[in-house]
This record gives sequence, structure tokens and C-alpha cells, in this order.
Amino acid sequence: MIPKSFPPLPDFPAGEVWLAGAGPGDPRLLTVLALHAIGQADDIVYDALVDRRVLDLRRDGAELISAGKRGGRPSSQQGDINDVLIERARAGRRVLRLKGGDPFVFGRGWDEASALTDAGIRFRIIPGLTAGLAGAALAGIPATSRDTNHAVVLAAGHRAEDGGSAADWAALAKLGQPIVLYMPMSQLAEITASLQQGGLSSDTPAALIQSATTEQERVVDSTLGNLVDDAARHGIGSPSIVVIGATVGLRRHLLGSLVGWR
Ligand code: SAH
Repeated sequence: MIPKSFPPLPDFPAGEVWLAGAGPGDPRLLTVLALHAIGQADDIVYDALVDRRVLDLRRDGAELISAGKRGGRPSSQQGDINDVLIERARAGRRVLRLKGGDPFVFGRGWDEASALTDAGIRFRIIPGLTAGLAGAALAGIPATSRDTNHAVVLAAGHRAEDGGSAADWAALAKLGQPIVLYMPMSQLAEITASLQQGGLSSDTPAALIQSATTEQERVVDSTLGNLVDDAARHGIGSPSIVVIGATVGLRRHLLGSLVGWR
């Protein structure tokens, strides 16, 4: 399937960690390098968001190690995950750390890369399609268009578990640029209220996109003022992204011809 003229793919040496993004879900949205890595790894340390169909592409005998929140149990401590990566690499395994979307977008990828660096372990970063941009694009919402915006904000709705500071929503509202919210559900009421207090109109187009590129995918059109009610009415849960801004309104124009991801 890969053309002969394709650049050579690197060997996955024993004792290295590859920190890769698995994209939003559908395995066809993996990068070539991520697919190559999945086919070679001895150990795959994966987050709860990584799609089962992606994990099923592993080679026979590869070991799967879960490292994320599952069924409400507390997430593995970041330090424990770092230790697993380091121990396995030191044992001479080819360790693939697989994360949903892109490893460097709200994925603690930097923490892991930093821990590996401190431990003297060689690693490689393989970017992935981030859910906020790919999920929106597949629903017909461009990240930018010439007529609507010259910037786009990716923001975490959920305050980091380590107590990191929350976004300044009023300041983001004043930018007047579309906002893509990751982990939006737990704070949605507070965020939408703050954005309106910051000057963003309640009529601003908005969309909820749940489980992009999976069988459970749902897209709900809304407005900033109605997001909370619409999320409840449609039973939108996790994982979802919320897009707020003029780019969302562009989607309607495409719906007559846009073919779904399937
Ligand atoms: N590194 C990931 C983001 C991890 S934070 C990335 O780049 O996409 C987890 C959040 O990602 C979820 O709460 C949700 O907001 C978003 N997300 C991940 N996969 C998703 C999907 N298939 N559909 C909708 N949102 C998704």
C-alpha cells in the first residue's frame, strides 16, 4: 500500500520509547509513522482515549499496558507512567507510548518526554491529528477561513489535575477568535457564562462534537447561550470537544455535499 518511493521508515531500536499520537479514533487517521510504530512495538502503554481498533493493529505478542482513567477509577499517577516507560526501556523493550490525538496537545506528552530525557532514555515524538482540529474538520468546521478568523484558540476546559491555572475566559472572549474546548463538560456552565461576561454574544455559533470518528460520533449544533441546555438535552458526554465561534456557522453551508468520515 505504501509506494516504493516512500521515504524509509526508521527502525524501532530496543530500549527506545516512541511517544506517538493515535489521532481521534478511526485507525485510518493514524500517521504512517504511528502505524509503523504500532506494528513493531514490544510494549504499548496506552491511554483510555486510544481507540480499540488502533490497539488491535499491534503485532502478535506485543504487550498492552493501560495507563489512563478507566471506568471511573483514578488515573494512574503520572510518575508511575513515567516509571513504567523508563523501566521497560531499560529492560531493552521497544516501548510505544500511545496517546489519543496528538501527544503534545493536553496529553502530558511533555512531562513524559522530560522524564525520559532526565533518565537518559532516547525517545522519538510522532505527532498525531489532534481531536479538536480533526473532529471539527470532519464535521465541516474549518479551523480558519479567510472570512472569519486569523487565529484559533485551543483551550482546556478542565483544570489540570495538578492544580494548574484555568484559562482566563474573559480575555479569550475579547480576542474574538474561535475557541476549541478540550475536556469541556465538567465546567461548561462556568465557561459559557464567563465567555458571555467577557463580551461574546450568546448567539455565537457553537457545536458539540462527541466521540469524533467513532461509531458513537455525534455533532450537535448550538449557540454559546444554549450549549449547556443542548448538551444535557442530547445527553452529550465524554470525550467531546466544543467549538465556539464564527467558523462553526460555516458548517451549515457544507452539509449538502459533505461526505461523512465513514
Ligand atoms: N491529546 C489529545 C487530547 C487529550 S485531552 C488530542 O490531541 O486530541 C482529552 C480530551 O480530548 C477529551 O476530553 C476531549 O475533549 C478530546 N477528545 C479526544 N478524543 C476525542 C474524540 N474522538 N472526540 C471528541 N473529543 C475527543
